[in-house]
Amino acid sequence: MNPFIISGPCSVETQEQFEQTISELINLGITEIRGGVWKPRTMHGQFEGLGEDALKIISKAREKYFFNTYVEVANKEQVELCEKYNIDNLWIGARTTGNPFSVQEIADSIKDKSKKILVKNPINYDIKLWQGAIGRFLNSGVENISIIFRGFNTHSIYRFNPIFEAIDDLKNTTKRDFETYIDVSHIAGHRDYLSHIISKAKSLGYGKFMIESHTNPEVAYTDALQQIKPKELIDLLFSNNLLDYERAEIDHIDNEIIALLKKRQKCSESIGHIKIKSGKSFFDKKRHDELSNKYGEYKGIYESIHEQSIKTQEKL
Ligand code: PEP
Ligand code: MN
Repeated sequence: MNPFIISGPCSVETQEQFEQTISELINLGITEIRGGVWKPRTMHGQFEGLGEDALKIISKAREKYFFNTYVEVANKEQVELCEKYNIDNLWIGARTTGNPFSVQEIADSIKDKSKKILVKNPINYDIKLWQGAIGRFLNSGVENISIIFRGFNTHSIYRFNPIFEAIDDLKNTTKRDFETYIDVSHIAGHRDYLSHIISKAKSLGYGKFMIESHTNPEVAYTDALQQIKPKELIDLLFSNNLLDYERAEIDHIDNEIIALLKKRQKCSESIGHIKIKSGKSFFDKKRHDELSNKYGEYKGIYESIHEQSIKTQEKL
């Protein structure tokens, strides 16, 4: 058994899909199995999970295979159904963590206080909200808390931004060292990027991952782009793409710098028109000296940005 990987399909779809997927995982020694039962979808009309029927599929599979189950819950009724079907571990999805009413309702409805609860970070980059959700469980007597980091919805090359510092922030503010899983699938958003995220996470010392897998990802009902075949997992875990991760990061930062320079140029044009109207000269030595001394080692770069700006104004 490999205790470090939680894997399984984004959604439980059919008995065959679930059993085929988990049997392939179990053959690899992975017995911590996730399966989406209720799916919080952004748009209505999409597949929202099989609900109780998915729990029946999981239960039936347990008659044949040995594995530990992980299911996302978002309200009291779902907690009670998971209890009825003996689901081992519950996780709180990113959208639910961001809603204190739902978190409280879930915390209050957990009867077995020794149950393992995994709390994903909220979608918004808000550490307090994450801390608050964890605090509601702790206050209700649930102590066995792990966390799952799945990135934030700030601008990124990936589906969700892996601001890994947030994990340390949370641990520092709560003064607790929670067992931490990195949900590489939801961060990456595409299977091509999974190895980037895993390599970066490993370089930061993380070794526990949640990774979505499906026996036939192309036809998955949900998150088809990011799921992988179980047999691809092992190669993925041993891949080393840290250089690609850092280069992609640098390219992203460079693009942002260029976008900001373009935005700056527009401001500079507006300033140019104001100077023309008020009869001021384009070059203002006092302002130039003030600004260029502000940026320390980047003084040279600032000088060229400023020069470019004056040239733009002179063309007006
Ligand atoms: C999931 O793990 O299937 C899921 C919905 O993730 P998140 O809550 O992180 O979006
Ligand atoms: Mn998913």
